[in-house]
Amino acid sequence: MRAAAFGLSDVGRRRESNEDAFLVDARSDLYIIADGMGGYAAGEVASRIAVDSLKEVLSGPHDGKAAVRLQDAVQEANARICDSQAQADQRQMGTTLVAMVVENERAIIGHVGDSRAYLLREGALRRLTSDHSWVNEQVKLGLLSDEAAQRHPMRNIVTRALGSRTEATAELREEGIRSGDVFLLCSDGLNTMVPDPEIEAILQRSGEDPERACRELVSRANERGGEDNTTVVVVHVGS
Ligand code: CA
Repeated sequence: MRAAAFGLSDVGRRRESNEDAFLVDARSDLYIIADGMGGYAAGEVASRIAVDSLKEVLSGPHDGKAAVRLQDAVQEANARICDSQAQADQRQMGTTLVAMVVENERAIIGHVGDSRAYLLREGALRRLTSDHSWVNEQVKLGLLSDEAAQRHPMRNIVTRALGSRTEATAELREEGIRSGDVFLLCSDGLNTMVPDPEIEAILQRSGEDPERACRELVSRANERGGEDNTTVVVVHVGS
């Protein structure tokens, strides 16, 4: 895939540390964001383990379908985080994940938790992922509007995360890739601060320049309060 890509992570305005981690590997067509959770730097450890183990599994020599390899990589990341929890007695350590790999002009996107993937195609933005979060479950049941969910005090509660022994499989989807597509991966520090129409407007005017798009998205999240770490990866597909 011919693509220009950039990633940026920012601590934000309120937090003392950045527990997000990301990877942009255009050569392997591999893009990842992980958003760690847990006290005493445990979140940083979990998100770093997740990104490193996905990179190791997915960029090495391989055969087999990308979707299968991605799910295997997520299981490996989960196992390593659980091992690390046991060693360090950090039972609260966990991380969300969103990852995109490319195979035969198709994007395979996997996510766990509330890190998101979006696609801007022909000027219109749509979400490619559905958050594994308590508020999103309420939205799906019709009990909460999307706008209310964005400001809800329980918006940080994820219902699926790596580092959990019960439910740690990734939800996968595939999307055919077209020239001009702009893929965005983000941690929730972006979308809890910046509504989708504003994300769309920023990508419309700067999506062909992924670095500029990333800088504008992070700046906007911070202007809106920067309550969380914000991490973004933008991939512009060339012709
Ligand atoms: Ca976060």
